[in-house]
Amino acid sequence: MTNRIAKQIQTTQLKYAYDTLRKQKYHLIGAHSAVKKCYWVHKALTEQKFCYKAKFYGIETHRCIQFSPSVLWCWNYCLHCWRYRPADRTKWTETILPSADDPKFIVEMAIKEHRRTVSGYKMYPSVSKKMYEEARNPKHVAISLTGEATLYTRIDDLIEEFHKRNMTTFLVTRGVRPEILANLRVEPTQLYVSIESYSPETYAYFNNPISSNLWSKTLQTLELLPSFTSPTVIRITLVRSFNMNNEAVKQWASILKKAQPSFIEVKAYMHIGGSITRLSRDDMPTHSEVREWASKIAEAVGYNIVSESKPSRVVLLSTLDKPVIRYGNPPISWYDPDPGDEFSGEYGAPEEAI
Ligand code: SF4
Repeated sequence: MTNRIAKQIQTTQLKYAYDTLRKQKYHLIGAHSAVKKCYWVHKALTEQKFCYKAKFYGIETHRCIQFSPSVLWCWNYCLHCWRYRPADRTKWTETILPSADDPKFIVEMAIKEHRRTVSGYKMYPSVSKKMYEEARNPKHVAISLTGEATLYTRIDDLIEEFHKRNMTTFLVTRGVRPEILANLRVEPTQLYVSIESYSPETYAYFNNPISSNLWSKTLQTLELLPSFTSPTVIRITLVRSFNMNNEAVKQWASILKKAQPSFIEVKAYMHIGGSITRLSRDDMPTHSEVREWASKIAEAVGYNIVSESKPSRVVLLSTLDKPVIRYGNPPISWYDPDPGDEFSGEYGAPEEAI
């Protein structure tokens, strides 16, 4: 096959992928970025129920953009992922972004597209004018959604552009590019690293990396966390048939002690999107199981359980004893009752895939 034909096939496949994403209510930006309205933005606007990031960190849910600069691209093929992927690995190059769009353009378009996602709420009788106007002026961005954000080579320029607009940035990564994180010119407001595995073998099985050295890259990233001045979070996703075992807790304890994150989120896998073809509904632990395993991890690492959110099945661990890190002023904090009902899965993804 000539290069020209290979390129044509890739372009056709990407076009098909973009069309599919549009049907799934992604708002595409340029060549590789996207915004999608979070389920909790709707809940916050229509019912004044706020997400777990409001409770844990003070994020004003209705003013938060769910965004990715790398919506189709990643170096992993995790079993629990809902990133849109081709049926096999040959249809487009999923490991390198097709180009690197200008960060200012991406940020301006992300805000514009977020405004479009909330524009219909003007007509909702239950949405206050004040909240609607606030939603039109976002204060926060979760750089996550799907894909690996650090594949976008200008990630620190992107963070800077959001900060110039007085927005906070939560950067979520699977930690496969420690060299990018080590050399960030501008730190995100808060850095998240997501993990599920606890050894090279479990990583190879569950996260399906494109290269066998990505587990050691992940460990390098975790060892970098103490050098960050911004707060850091390690998110552990619990999957019943995979990592709810004592060996995982033992291995995580040793990793977490080195990484010294400001927070640890222990969270349930959610049986949604493409993950339903790879994992079973039974893999989704209940909130009380998440709490039980979070207690084991807390004890092994010497952290305390400081908050939890039943609707999102997530428990927060920290060495802090008060919610001193707050980025906004939502009407909910660590000790408040939960905002809504247990997650039912009927609304789609409750938060990002990565
Ligand atoms: S969960 Fe995240 S890291 Fe894993 S394949 Fe999906 S986008 Fe990539």
